[in-house]
Amino acid sequence: MRLLLIEDEKALGNALRDYLLAQGHATDWVENITDADAAMASTPYDVVLLDLNLPDGHGVDLLRGLRRRGDVTPCIILTAQDQITDRIQGLNAGADDYLVKPFDLGELHARLSAVARRYAGNPNPLLSIGNVDIDLARRVIFVAGLRVDLTAREWALLDQFARRPGATLSKPQLEEALYEFGAEIESNTVEVYISRLRKKIGSNLISTLRGVGYRLEG
Ligand code: CA
Repeated sequence: MRLLLIEDEKALGNALRDYLLAQGHATDWVENITDADAAMASTPYDVVLLDLNLPDGHGVDLLRGLRRRGDVTPCIILTAQDQITDRIQGLNAGADDYLVKPFDLGELHARLSAVARRYAGNPNPLLSIGNVDIDLARRVIFVAGLRVDLTAREWALLDQFARRPGATLSKPQLEEALYEFGAEIESNTVEVYISRLRKKIGSNLISTLRGVGYRLEG
């Protein structure tokens, strides 16, 4: 997934970004509302993680602004234990979920995935295609009953497909999923990862639509 993390505590922001990247999510980290607005104006995100007390304003105001513009990007607010009023305001302003600091990284990941699945209209984390079983919540995949291990980037790619089975994804869409802002993208990177995925999960599962993109067959 492509994630926007808005958090001004440097140690926490760093730790969260490193964790999310390691989980295969291209994550942009900004530390204030101005930079968050700029990032969201140029990039479509799958989920926004929003701290509420920011140096140039309150996260709930950012969220209200988003929803007022009709932006429905899923949003999880990050709050402190004593910010009950803020949590209620956040949920009323259109947040999809919240986490109370300090939170467990595994729980963050579970909530992120659940929110993204609900938004994609498919809350079921289990996907079976032919002899391939994918558990998006636990991040495990079985091919003909045997567990297959994927790297973080292979998951990032598979995630994109699994959340929209049958949809054709363009190469730029898949590149977005693979890389952080500004990172180098080689012209054949998507092809390389598609080919690795096919080796692991079977060559028939992902079709190439020449000049258009790729599709996970249902
Ligand atoms: Ca803060």
